[in-house]
Amino acid sequence: MTNAPDFPVLMPVYDVADVYFERGEGAYLWDDKGECYLDFIGGIAVTGLGHANPAIVKALKDQAEKLWITSNIFKNHNTERLAKRLVDISFAGTVFFQNSGVEAWECGIKVIRKYFSSIGQPHRYRVITFNGCFHGRTLTACAAAKTEKMVGGFGPLLDGFDQVAWGDIAAVRAAITNETAAINIEPVQGEGGMRVASKEFMRELRAICDEFGLLLYFDEIQCGMGRTGHMFAYEAYGITPDVMCIAKALGNGFPIAACMATTKAAGGMTAGTHGSTYGGNPLATAIGNAVLDVMTADGFLSEVRRKGDLLWQELEKVLKNHPRVFKEHRGAGMMQGLVCIPPNKEIAAALLQEKLITIWAGENVLRLLPPLIVSDTQIDEAVSIIDRVAGKLEAKA
Ligand SMILES: *Cc1c(COP(=O)(O)O)cnc(C)c1O
Repeated sequence: MTNAPDFPVLMPVYDVADVYFERGEGAYLWDDKGECYLDFIGGIAVTGLGHANPAIVKALKDQAEKLWITSNIFKNHNTERLAKRLVDISFAGTVFFQNSGVEAWECGIKVIRKYFSSIGQPHRYRVITFNGCFHGRTLTACAAAKTEKMVGGFGPLLDGFDQVAWGDIAAVRAAITNETAAINIEPVQGEGGMRVASKEFMRELRAICDEFGLLLYFDEIQCGMGRTGHMFAYEAYGITPDVMCIAKALGNGFPIAACMATTKAAGGMTAGTHGSTYGGNPLATAIGNAVLDVMTADGFLSEVRRKGDLLWQELEKVLKNHPRVFKEHRGAGMMQGLVCIPPNKEIAAALLQEKLITIWAGENVLRLLPPLIVSDTQIDEAVSIIDRVAGKLEAKA
């Protein structure tokens, strides 16, 4: 075998911006030339509590000096405590920790399949998903996404995912067969274009699951952990799922994810049926506990909602001011997007030039995911950069 000399040492699967960041603090990042940027993506909805948050750094350092990992065949107080706390603040009765979002998502698919086989209905294994969905990059998650970008060249794909149009209840009903096990949805689609599921739609999904004995499975990897101004996005809908996965902001940047389920839904998960070497290690769960300390403190989430509303009002003005650049504004809480008229990647690149970090999403959306601890002044700062850059683009058009 030979190596091409000009092939990058990092597999070239990303659209990489030409900048090296060296340091972060709160909502700011500094590059290797000392330039300061306002970070409105935070590792893509990861650093909810900001970069180098002192409480999280302290939890990491304290635990790093004690114990990093044993094995899941031994008990651990940090891990049990984090599971107990997640159970206490959610619909769930039980939790499995993983290291990345997609692992937690896929654990949920295993939970669902195992549930039906354990109740004597192994023929029920199919999961209904929605167009524009994103659940990660394993072959199973690619099989759920179904787009050419995700599956092209990676076949044959795992069978068992039926995709229907976002928001289309009739299509959901039509897709149900005697092999259907579950419905899987992101209450707010992130990668898909910041689409927020309506209350009626979500409640109808819950009713359909109850009617047909299906499990309702939420992917809150991006929209959970305070992002929408609720600890979990489902809280805004007045319904609960049977299974849910969370990740991104749970470790504020340290890899940790969780699959949560009712004890009924997790009924098939007995000793030996699943596992993970790193998942739920005491270092990761010490950090998860420190994140929860901040997020469950009095007033934290109401502040996120207040600042989300502020960002909303400010972006509404931008939308009005620049009808030739932006045509729609979507989102919930600290998860907002502007549907662009010029290519979203060009706008994101122009904003980066002006030291505001944003990211694109599906449906030509420019996505904003400020840290939950962002200040009012920083919101103003970001919005005025967007306003200025949109003005320049308009002058050019
Ligand atoms: C990021 C994301 C994932 C995948 O998480 P990884 O940690 O990259 O595996 C899955 N679902 C949603 C909704 C996400 O935003």
